[in-house]
Amino acid sequence: MRVVIAGAGLAGLSCAKYLADNGHIPIVLEARDVLGGKVAAWKDEDGDWYETGLHIFFGAYPNMLQLFKELDIEDRLQWKSHSMIFNQPSEPGTYSRFDFPDIPAPVNGVSAILSNNDMLSWNEKILFGLGLVPAMLRGQKYLDKCDTKSWTDWLKEHNIPERVNDEVFIAMSKALNFIGPDEISSTVLLTALNRFLQEKNGSKMAFLDGAPPERLCQPMVDYITARGGEVHMNSPLREINLNEDSTVKSFTIASLNEKEKKEITADAYVSAMPVDLFKLMIPNQWKGLDAFSKLDGLNGVPVINIHLWFDKKLTDIDHLLFSRSPLLSVYADMSITCKEYEDPNRSMLELVFAPAKDWINRSDQDIVDATMEELKKLFPTHFMGDNKTKLRKYKVVKTPRSVYKAVPGCQEFRPSQKSPIKNFFLAGDYTMQKYLASMEGAVLSGKLCAESINKEYSKTPQNVS
Ligand SMILES: Cc1cc2nc3c(=O)[nH]c(=O)nc-3n(C[C@H](O)[C@H](O)[C@H](O)COP(=O)(O)OP(=O)(O)OC[C@H]3O[C@@H](n4cnc5c(N)ncnc54)[C@H](O)[C@@H]3O)c2cc1C
Repeated sequence: MRVVIAGAGLAGLSCAKYLADNGHIPIVLEARDVLGGKVAAWKDEDGDWYETGLHIFFGAYPNMLQLFKELDIEDRLQWKSHSMIFNQPSEPGTYSRFDFPDIPAPVNGVSAILSNNDMLSWNEKILFGLGLVPAMLRGQKYLDKCDTKSWTDWLKEHNIPERVNDEVFIAMSKALNFIGPDEISSTVLLTALNRFLQEKNGSKMAFLDGAPPERLCQPMVDYITARGGEVHMNSPLREINLNEDSTVKSFTIASLNEKEKKEITADAYVSAMPVDLFKLMIPNQWKGLDAFSKLDGLNGVPVINIHLWFDKKLTDIDHLLFSRSPLLSVYADMSITCKEYEDPNRSMLELVFAPAKDWINRSDQDIVDATMEELKKLFPTHFMGDNKTKLRKYKVVKTPRSVYKAVPGCQEFRPSQKSPIKNFFLAGDYTMQKYLASMEGAVLSGKLCAESINKEYSKTPQNVS
């Protein structure tokens, strides 16, 4: 069976991979000249990589880890020590760590929390631990129910002092969805904490050993094409054409310069585009259908990814760091954490700038200047004196609409991979799956989409060619 998929992000490529595993012929059409969507990366004039986002893989990503195994590229994940490391704004240049010992969950998580005495008081730890009991016992049902309130409201409901937000959860909330705890749905934080506490290696982190388009997406493309599938770059979907019964008749694809258009037909069609772009393309005949009209409740959140190349080493920490800075979220010295970006003498910091709402339209120079001011607090000794560290060059990548903004109430707007249209399906991190807006969510959504297609077409054998 021929399946046309618009979008070569992780969701579209995962859908194509699992369709190919089932003997189907996936044809992936990507609008841009780079694979990966939100994990896309480019080389600058010196051959140095810069990326859409600093990306971390977690032990709690079963579908992603399975995919690495199936592609035989598991050695490309560079696992770090099982810790979470936070900057301490009250003591510039110092860090506070949660170290997870090598013992079963949840004891390793409880031990990590109890042995950190810099950030939370004993009273806060006890109240917080008690608050998490329903999530651990009742699982997904409880997590879904909590989507009515923000994380700050959840803390209030459990009499946990709001101070713990300043200590830990502003940083975690910004890392998970690029917004603060007053805005984020408590489902997001509880889902992450639940996985981290219930799975021994849930919060263990890995960096990819190079740029995602080459080191992760290209092996997916090779796998797909080796099994008869196709992946076409510079092929944006421009229109979804319908039959009289509102099923899809064809996709209209434009060439890069928009001069040529062509129609492509298949047995089934998939949108693996981001939700904001798919919404612009929904045919009028579908607009009254609940599955499509509710997408208005999902909107991409702005975020900025910054790369700063320095003339000296700033740190020797081989890990992700939670900056706890008002402007910045997480960051890492990629010259240490990522094999392909390695430099023994000079640091390259990759930093996520969030929330980015008030900055997304500012100039790159303004953004870098503000980031450098924050870095002076994180590295107080490096930017003064005669031998101060100098910024050699920078790259700023803005994504005005990135992953869907996970505000309270938005879980109910997330659509299933199977749409009300018989031959049309959806993949993407915003579609319903339990890993929210993440690489794991995108890969799982693609897998679920391929399963839906298999199921639908195994019911109607006449459609299977
Ligand atoms: C700054 C940043 C940091 C992040 N950090 C992490 C992290 O540490 N860990 C984690 O798990 N996740 C992280 N994420 C989230 C993760 O990147 C996304 O959840 C995931 O990559 C989304 O994949 P997707 O396939 O659903 O969508 P996308 O990656 O958006 O893919 C959609 C694809 O569709 C294409 N497209 C658009 N329009 C058309 C069209 N008309 N025709 C054809 N193709 C089209 C796009 O070009 C794109 O390639 C981060 C994201 C950002 C932005």
